[in-house]
Amino acid sequence: MNHYPHLSQPLDLGFTQIRNRTLMGSMHTGLEDRASNYPKLAAFFAERAAGGVGLIITGGISPNYRGGTTPWAGFLKYSWQVKRHQLITEAVHNHDGKICMQLLHAGRYAYNPLCQAPSRIKSPISKFTPFAMSNRQINNTINDYANSASLAQRAGYDGVEIMGSEGYLINQFISLRTNKRTDKWGGNYQNRCRFALEICRSIREKCGDNYIIIFRLSLLDLIDDGSTFEEVIELAKELEKTGVNIINTGIGWHEARIPTIVSSVPHGAFSWVTARLKEHVTVPLIASNRLNLPDQAETIIKKGQADMVSMARPFLADAHFYNKAVQGKQHSINVCIACNQACLDHVFKNKRATCLVNPRACFETDLNLDTQNSNNGSVLVVGAGPAGLSCASEAQKFGYKVTLVEAKDHVGGQFSLAEKIPGKSDFIHTITYFENLFLECGGKLKLDTQLSVENILEKNWDHIVIATGVKPRRPKIAGINHTMVCSYAQVLRGDVALKERIAIIGAGGIGFDMAEFVIKKGKNEGVSEYLKEWNIDHDLKSPGGVLSKQENNTVPESTIYMLQRSQGKQGRGLGKTTGWIHRLEVKKAGVKQMSGCEYLKIDDTGLHIRQDEKEQVLEVDQIIYCSGQESVNRLSTSLSLNKVNHHVIGGALKAGELDAKSAIKEGFLLAHTL
Ligand code: FAD
Ligand code: NAP
Ligand code: SF4
Repeated sequence: MNHYPHLSQPLDLGFTQIRNRTLMGSMHTGLEDRASNYPKLAAFFAERAAGGVGLIITGGISPNYRGGTTPWAGFLKYSWQVKRHQLITEAVHNHDGKICMQLLHAGRYAYNPLCQAPSRIKSPISKFTPFAMSNRQINNTINDYANSASLAQRAGYDGVEIMGSEGYLINQFISLRTNKRTDKWGGNYQNRCRFALEICRSIREKCGDNYIIIFRLSLLDLIDDGSTFEEVIELAKELEKTGVNIINTGIGWHEARIPTIVSSVPHGAFSWVTARLKEHVTVPLIASNRLNLPDQAETIIKKGQADMVSMARPFLADAHFYNKAVQGKQHSINVCIACNQACLDHVFKNKRATCLVNPRACFETDLNLDTQNSNNGSVLVVGAGPAGLSCASEAQKFGYKVTLVEAKDHVGGQFSLAEKIPGKSDFIHTITYFENLFLECGGKLKLDTQLSVENILEKNWDHIVIATGVKPRRPKIAGINHTMVCSYAQVLRGDVALKERIAIIGAGGIGFDMAEFVIKKGKNEGVSEYLKEWNIDHDLKSPGGVLSKQENNTVPESTIYMLQRSQGKQGRGLGKTTGWIHRLEVKKAGVKQMSGCEYLKIDDTGLHIRQDEKEQVLEVDQIIYCSGQESVNRLSTSLSLNKVNHHVIGGALKAGELDAKSAIKEGFLLAHTL
């Protein structure tokens, strides 16, 4: 039975067919930037093509050197660069897949002192002020696009995607915010769109009719002075006339201070925007942003909101997303939880992208599994948090006979608490994915079982893995046993009800999560609430799709303090691409953030602190400590005392710097080296 009849329909472009309606959207992995990494990149794409995705878009490749996002970014300008791309196209075509190369000129977003833009205006997120392009440089750049597209064609790509959104060069020409030119490339809207249209025309002319051209159009800029939706429609119609085959949805410039892809953005938050454009053009449209499940994708196609659905990170998380879905195994999909921790946050640190829930992503050649091998030893894994779950399922998949023992009546460990945080409900998918995988491969799971060393020694295990994780650290403050004090775990488990005046001790990842839990308790988190919270204009009448300067701050129902002992801004250690959102959320909600605090005591009057040499009492009726964690490693210590060989992973090994990314990866790697 076909579970996704709409998603699985081919898309006929006349001269060619795309085998289904799924698109693996462009993602920069870091592998594009070095020729020596192209075999790895080819293996990465090959696995996704084997997984059935309809069309793959590569990470951005610049048409020339100055357009690269960094000075070392991949560009395609010369014939000698074609060969490395052939590795990729052959790998994908061997699995009957199709692949387009994305052409991305970063303009003023390039991390390069030589960066160029329509006007000499620095972006708020860039280090370098761009050079304004001369008329000649503009014409040369258009030629570079056409040349690059034609080299891509020679390399065997099925087409190109022209990156015209997210605030990159083409978008910079389109917007008044960045284009102050007075020549034929600036001024009125038609002039500002000339660059985009000339690029499409020149590519079509150079590459002929039988070549896919996708244009990624910014449907919502989410910045002041962005395009109005009427202008977007006008440009879409002009793009159609140039022979563009497909229009992809772009949402939000990188400098926009509105979250568009992270976990707190509701699923399908922008498919309605693509649907509005659909009324005005005949060219196939692609919906994108915060789509991570096949059911959502099916609904979009079924409702006619778009003709294809783009998902990028979901294909990092699971190469076999599409095949699993259509084979009725959608519950076996390793779902992207939109955390950005191992993909975008890595790329911003110039590290190879991978995936928190799938450490093999982009390491396909380094971690080349042989699941047919004949491991048959017995393995005991104690603790079914992320570390234990990933180790147990991977080892079981690998042929070992694994018994996974968990003290609680459910698996997931601390991650099952994370799932209660607003915007993190997808985290449950990770837990169920690993649990299902483990059980489907024949693993033995024992819940509600607290093992002692004696229990462990009753059987002769070939391998013992201790993954007993962490527990909240109870800060040493006079009066810490007061009834008003509780841990984040007690609150999230529902053991303690929230009060009105709350002090949160600790402003790390969990402190911020707890603040958001308090701010948003009991509130709906649907698309309309999200649009309202971030001033996004549902009527699409405002330029850029943002309502003008109307403050829509959440009115705090509780008095919330968030404290830390160290000096300086709170939340500095949060992820590069998500931290600013957490910081903005707590600021908007009026959370009183206090750094440099010394905790003196807790009594009936509240929390006594000293800050800037001044003592004060925070008159609160609840104190929630989020002050880090400590390893639960009693079992490991006892095993060591008994001279029993064992492995320790995740929080049980090291509580500091622990997160689910490191816990899952450690478990995964251990399974390979047992
Ligand atoms: P744990 O998750 O602590 O799991 C250990 C397991 O072992 C538990 O299930 C426990 O019951 C069991 N156990 C202990 N002793 C025994 C025993 N003797 N016998 C049997 N079983 C035993 N990380 C991120 O990367 N990103 C996030 O966004 C994120 N958000 C978070 C939000 C919150 C609110 C919380 C609480 C955590 C968050 N984390 C996040 C952190 C992440 O959940 C932890 O780093 C991760 O769960 C640690 O995994 P672990 O397997 O090492 O330990
Ligand atoms: P954390 O980020 O290390 O923060 C611990 C906080 O507790 C700090 O603010 C610290 O600040 C304070 N603290 C430490 N020791 C203390 C003590 N003895 N007394 C009082 N305060 C103390 O750890 P976490 O918040 O527990 O998070 C655990 C892990 O989960 C982290 O790796 C985190 O990255 C991950 N996580 C990630 C996210 C995410 O969105 N990416 C969300 C949640 C959790 P001072 O020392 O300055 O007081
Ligand atoms: Fe998705 Fe997080 Fe994996 Fe990135 S790291 S692909 S956001 S699950």
